[in-house]
Amino acid sequence: MHNNKMLTLSAPLSGPVIKLAQVPDEVFSSGVMGDGIAIDPLNDCLYAPCDGVIVHVAKTAHALTLRADNGAEVLLHVGLDTFDLQGEGFQLLVENGAQVSNGQPLLRFDPDYIAQRCTSLISLLVLTNGDLFELQLLEQDTAEAGTPLLQVAARQVEAVVTATGDPGQQALGSVRITHHGGLHARPAALIRQTALGFKSSCRLHIGANSAPCQSIVRLLALGISENDEVHVSCNGEDADAALQAILAVLGKTHVRPSPAPVQAAPAPVRPANKPGQLSGVCAAPGLASGPLYFLSTVQLPPDLGNHVPEQQMQALHSALEQVRAEIRLTLIQARAQGNLDEEAIFDTHLALLEDSELLQASHGVIAQGRSAAHAWSAAIEQQCAILQQLGNTLLAERSNDLRDLQQRVLRALLGERAQCQLPPGAIVAAHELTPSDLLMLSAQNVAGLCMAAGGATSHVAILARGKGLPCLVALGCELLALPAGQQVILDADNACLELTPAAGRIEQVQQSILTRQQRFARQQLQAHEPAVTGDGQQIEIAANVASSHEAASAHAHGADGVGLLRTEFLFVERTTAPNEQEQIAAYQGVVDAMGDKPVIIRTIDVGGDKQLDYLPLPAEANPVLGLRGIRLAQLHPQILDRQLRALLQVSPVQRCRILLPMITEVDELLHIRSRLDALRVELGLSRRPELGVMIEVPAAALMAEQLAEHADFLSIGTNDLSQYTLAMDRDHAGLASRVDALHPALLRLIAHTCAGAAKHGRWVGVCGALASDPLATPVLIGLGVRELSVSPLQIGEIKARVRELDAGMCQTLSQKLLNMSNARSVREACHQYWPLCD
Ligand code: PEP
Ligand code: MG
Repeated sequence: MHNNKMLTLSAPLSGPVIKLAQVPDEVFSSGVMGDGIAIDPLNDCLYAPCDGVIVHVAKTAHALTLRADNGAEVLLHVGLDTFDLQGEGFQLLVENGAQVSNGQPLLRFDPDYIAQRCTSLISLLVLTNGDLFELQLLEQDTAEAGTPLLQVAARQVEAVVTATGDPGQQALGSVRITHHGGLHARPAALIRQTALGFKSSCRLHIGANSAPCQSIVRLLALGISENDEVHVSCNGEDADAALQAILAVLGKTHVRPSPAPVQAAPAPVRPANKPGQLSGVCAAPGLASGPLYFLSTVQLPPDLGNHVPEQQMQALHSALEQVRAEIRLTLIQARAQGNLDEEAIFDTHLALLEDSELLQASHGVIAQGRSAAHAWSAAIEQQCAILQQLGNTLLAERSNDLRDLQQRVLRALLGERAQCQLPPGAIVAAHELTPSDLLMLSAQNVAGLCMAAGGATSHVAILARGKGLPCLVALGCELLALPAGQQVILDADNACLELTPAAGRIEQVQQSILTRQQRFARQQLQAHEPAVTGDGQQIEIAANVASSHEAASAHAHGADGVGLLRTEFLFVERTTAPNEQEQIAAYQGVVDAMGDKPVIIRTIDVGGDKQLDYLPLPAEANPVLGLRGIRLAQLHPQILDRQLRALLQVSPVQRCRILLPMITEVDELLHIRSRLDALRVELGLSRRPELGVMIEVPAAALMAEQLAEHADFLSIGTNDLSQYTLAMDRDHAGLASRVDALHPALLRLIAHTCAGAAKHGRWVGVCGALASDPLATPVLIGLGVRELSVSPLQIGEIKARVRELDAGMCQTLSQKLLNMSNARSVREACHQYWPLCD
C-alpha cells in the first residue's frame, strides 16, 4: 500500500552524517544498493527511523530492513564488512515480521569490538525500493538518534512525460522498431534494464498510448510490432544519455538467437484430426511413445477475507523472493551450461517478477483486503488479458510466461511443491505448460510433451527443443478429455498424437528410439574403461559438475574425475555465505562421490554475469572486464581465505586439486600459493592440494610457460577464452554464432598453452564447452591437451570418440588448422579429417 504523503525518517543513530558517495565501500558509495546516507555512530544502539514492519533481518544480525507504512523499504546496515563477524558483537532486539514504532531500539552493538575487527563503524540507511520512492536529505552535519534526518516521497511514475518544471532536462526521440516480431519480452526486458541505468524517467509512446520503460508488462501491452515507429521521452538530469541508450536498444537490439524463428508467427493452424489422431503443431521435433500423464495447475482456494494487508504484503514479498531465488539458481546453471535460450527466458522472468506494474497492481488488490494469492493472480490475469487482446501472436504467447510466474508464486504462497511423481517415460499433457514446468519435467526424464493450447514460438517450445524433448502444441481441448495412462505415440515430426496405436506401430516407433539409445548404451558399456587412442595416447575424460549429486552421476557414467567443480553453485540461493564447515562438507561430498578419482575444485568465480545477493559487487561499466574471478580476492580477501581453508581440509589431499579462475599474471598465482601455504601452516597440515590455473584470458595463454613454472596444471576455459580473444561477449545475441572456440586464433592460443606447459612437464586440460564438442576432440588431442572435462552424460560418447583417433595423425592435421582463416573452415576441415558418425 503506497501513498504520496511525505514520510519523515528520524536518525537511527547519533553521530556525524556522511554523504553516501563518501562511504569507503564502493558497494554503497556507488549507489548500487540505493540512495541513502551514512552515520559514523557515537552510540551503541540502532533505532527504528519510522513506524513499520521488519521485513528482513540478516542472520548475522548486522543489518535489517524495515518497510515503512507507506511502502518505502529502508535497509539499516551497521558498520562496513560487519557481515564477516557472523553475528559477534550484535544483539538483535526485534524479529523478522515485527511491527515497530519510530524510535524503538532495534539492534544493540558493541562499537569497540566492531571497530577493532572491521573496516569501519560507519553505518548506513539506504532506500532499497528507489524505483517507487525517492529520498530528500535534510541538510545537517550531525544526527541525533530519534530526530528528523530525511524525508521519503513516492515517485510520480505516471506524470513523467508531460511534467513541467522538472528539475532536469527533457529529451525526445523516435525510432522505427527493427526487431523481428516487434517489442516482445526480451527486448522489453533490455529496455527496462537500460532505463534503470539512468536517473531520468523514461517512457515509450506509440500513438496515444505510452508506458514507463521500467515496466515490462506495460511495454508489452503497447503491442508494438516490427516496423512501428515509437517515440521515447526521457526526463531528468541524464535525459540525453538515457535517450540515446534506449534508442540504441530499440533500433539495434537483437535477442539471443534461438532455434525458434523469433518472429510473429501466425496463430498455429492445425489440420483436421484424422481418425485415431489429434493434430497439432510441432513445437519441438522428435518421436516418443508412452503413457499419458496430466499435469494440473495450482487451484486458487476461495478467498475467505479478513486479511491483514501488511501480513499479506509480507507473504507476497517472501513468495516473490523465494521464486526469484529459484530463478537466479536456474540462471546460474543455464549460464554455466552455456544455455543461452534458457538464460534469456529466465532473465526475462526475473525482470517480470520485479515489474513495478505487477507489484503495484498486486499491492492495490491487497490493500482492498484480498489475500496475497488472489492479488497476485488477479494482477497477472489482468496483464494476460491485455496481451491476448493485442492481436499479435508472439505477444499473446508471452502470457504463458506470466502464467508461469503466476503458478510459481502461488505455489510458494500456498506451500505446494512444484515437484510431482511421474511414471517413467511419460508423455505429459496439459492445457499449457510453462518454462519452469518444463525444467522440472525434463529433470524427471519424461518422453515428450503435448499441450491443448500453446504456440510454436513460446518459450517452453524453445526450451523443449534445447532439451531434445519432442513437443506438440495446439492439440485442442480434446486432449484434456483423454484417459490418463493411455498409451500414445507423440509424433512431433508429423505434428500428430496417435491415440490408439496398434502394437506394430508402437514397436516400430520404439525400434527407432532404441537405435539411438543403443548407441548411447554401447558407449556407456565402455565408459568406465580408459580413453586411449589407437596409437596408445591416454586422454582423461572428466566431468564438469556443480554438486555431489552430479558428481555421483558423473562417476556412474564413467568419469575419470571431476575436471571442474564450479563452486559458485554452493554460494547461490542463500542469504549468507557458506561458512568454513559447510564448505568443507560440500567439497568433501564431491570428493567422496568420485570414489578414488581426482576432483578439481575451482575457487569462487563471481562477478561478471554471476552475482550473489549477499555479496553485492560495485556496479561496473564493464563487469566482465572488472572484479570477477580471482580478482575478488582484491575486494574480499576473507571470502577467498575461507574457501582456501575449507579446501585444505578436504581429504585425501592428493585427490583434491584447486583451480584458480581468471588469472592474468604470475603474481596472482604466487599470491594465492603463498596464502595457501600460510593457511596450511595455520591449520597444522603437512600437505596442500595441487594448484592449477585456468587459462581463460589471452594473457594467461600467452604466459602459459611462466604460469606453468609455478602451477601444477593448466585448464583451458574456452568459454571465456573465446570471449576475450575474439572480443565478443559470450552472451551476445547477435554474435553467438561467431563466438566459436574452433577459431584458429583460439587454436593457436591452445597450442601455445600446451607448448608452454610442456616445458615444465605440466599437463593441460580443457574444461570449457569446447571439450564436449566431439568435432573438437581430435583437434584438442592434436594440440597437446591431455584431459577433457565434459558434461556427465557425454563421457561415454567422448571416450568412444577418442578411441577412434590416432594421436599422431591428430597432431599432424591439427597443425594445418592453425593456418586457416576462420572457424567455419576449421569445422569443415574437421568434418573431412575426422568424420562424425550420423
Ligand atoms: C570457461 O570460461 O570456459 C569456463 C569453464 O568457466 P565458466 O564457463 O564458468 O566461466
Ligand atoms: Mg570462465
